[in-house]
Amino acid sequence: MGSLIEDGRKFIEDADRIMVFSGAGLSTESGIPDFRSPGGLWSKYDPADFYFDKIISDKDARVKYWKMSSESYKLMTAAKPNAAHMAIKKLENIGKLFCIVTQNIDNLHHRAGNSPEKIIEIHGTAFSVSCLKCGKKYNRDDIEKMIDSGIKDPLCDECSGILKPDTISFGQAMPEDKMAEAIQCAGDSDLCIVLGSSLVVYPAASVPAHAAKSGSKLMIINREETPLDSLADLVIHGSVSHVLSEVVRL
Ligand code: NAD
Ligand code: ZN
Repeated sequence: MGSLIEDGRKFIEDADRIMVFSGAGLSTESGIPDFRSPGGLWSKYDPADFYFDKIISDKDARVKYWKMSSESYKLMTAAKPNAAHMAIKKLENIGKLFCIVTQNIDNLHHRAGNSPEKIIEIHGTAFSVSCLKCGKKYNRDDIEKMIDSGIKDPLCDECSGILKPDTISFGQAMPEDKMAEAIQCAGDSDLCIVLGSSLVVYPAASVPAHAAKSGSKLMIINREETPLDSLADLVIHGSVSHVLSEVVRL
């Protein structure tokens, strides 16, 4: 492990434009479960219940969706950035951070103090809600108050349309502008560091793959193997907060 940490430090030393690509594994040590690990969301809920088509067409599915979503939102508001989020902030402090492309919806990169213009949330954010019919935006906390008061399927106060958190569900189109921006950042970076992602969710995983194919070095820090390990210049298996704070020891 020691020499892998040394290799990681050297990669950072040599880089000028680092892209961080983060997944749910970055936030498990902040108390937010990921999807696929034991004890993760998919050991508790059936992902088939939360496909976008189902949420928009079936009131019962929506009630179930809001129940799961409110439960994880409460964990997200209570969570604090961990040592790995803070190490990424250090990369920005020393002028090496080019961008953060995150699959996370938990706002923890913002709360760690990274500049909003460097953060691309390709799966959206849990911290705001929109009407799917008229587009009216709501603060998530206001909607949570409605849910706490017993409204199980909140609707738009302007047009009675369906409300949904601004996150990308399975089967829902990805925001094209954000994906394009992420791919551009990948192509322009000289080091891509993947943190806590199983890299099985597409098109998200095409971002680090594009970085590697465009000549950027690829470093993956994850507890378990990923399908992109064979493309990587350095793979370190371990706790992301432990490993990254050793690698970014400034
Ligand atoms: P994933 O659950 O598919 O994979 C997480 C990976 O991180 C796994 O390979 C796991 O072994 C690893 N991991 C977990 N904890 C770790 C730790 N402490 N140190 C090192 N590795 C660790 O998550 P994904 O790849 O991000 O894809 C799932 C989707 O779930 C994303 O699209 C995301 O939008 C959504 N999601 C987000 C959050 C969040 O915002 N925190 C939480 C759950 C799910
Ligand atoms: Zn509306």
